[in-house]
Amino acid sequence: DVPTDAALKSGFTDVASFRAAGGAVRIHGISKSFGALKVLDNIELNLPPGSVTAILGPSGSGKSTLLRAINHLERVDSGFISIDGNLIGYSQKGDTLYELKEKDILKSRADIGMVFQSFNLFPHLTVLENLVEAPIQVRGIGREGAAQLAQELLARVGLSDKINAYPRQLSGGQQQRVAIARALALRPKVLLFDEPTSALDPELVGEVLDVIKELARTGTTLVIVTHEIGFAREVADTVVFMEGGHILEAGPPARVFNEAEHPRTREFLAKVL
Ligand code: ADP
Ligand code: MG
Repeated sequence: DVPTDAALKSGFTDVASFRAAGGAVRIHGISKSFGALKVLDNIELNLPPGSVTAILGPSGSGKSTLLRAINHLERVDSGFISIDGNLIGYSQKGDTLYELKEKDILKSRADIGMVFQSFNLFPHLTVLENLVEAPIQVRGIGREGAAQLAQELLARVGLSDKINAYPRQLSGGQQQRVAIARALALRPKVLLFDEPTSALDPELVGEVLDVIKELARTGTTLVIVTHEIGFAREVADTVVFMEGGHILEAGPPARVFNEAEHPRTREFLAKVL
């Protein structure tokens, strides 16, 4: 089920055929500029349900902007994005066919979990309160049901004993595991990670990667921006290499790591491996 190069390059000319094609995350022709700087240039990606995609690339290559676009935190200039067959983004410069309403954006965003480098837990709330907030507000789940779900998720990330702790009482690795549990509490169809271990002390990286590995095994669709090459090689179905707003390479880890087509990919890998 790994997307082939042909699938990645498949063309869509209209919204209907794009929508019909499905896929957990499908991106077609996404471009985005900040002023004169083009940070995403005609991006194509098709991520099947349950797939694990690692995005690598030098700083400034557009990785975070791509994740933010998928999550509608960044408005794209052109292109289509769909999540689980639902069109969540579409615009075309000069010829807008479909304009998302704020309400639809909020609704579709609830299908996408995001975990950031900097944990972003609410500092004044306990772990439990951090976990129940969104399910109650966004999903309309009762407090008791939300608390039950929080307990299950904390067990899953190995932090049942921290349920009443405040973020400041936890290590960075523990905070990030809570952040992952919090993202899961909305039962997202897709989970996006933006360098989830970059802010951690080296000895804490493993416990967070182990939680992500476990999610990969249970079939959650994951997209992970990471510099952890060993992790990407072991866990990802597809490795994407970005530079200058372009996807230079996309394929199975064995191919991208061992026989990259693009010299820039080989140069980058030589530096980080
Ligand atoms: P990466 O995550 O790969 O390091 P980013 O997606 O964060 O790259 O950024 C890509 C480029 O876009 C960088 O040159 C960055 O400075 C620029 N950029 C990102 N966000 C903004 C913004 N809100 N306004 C202007 N430039 C931005
Ligand atoms: Mg980034």
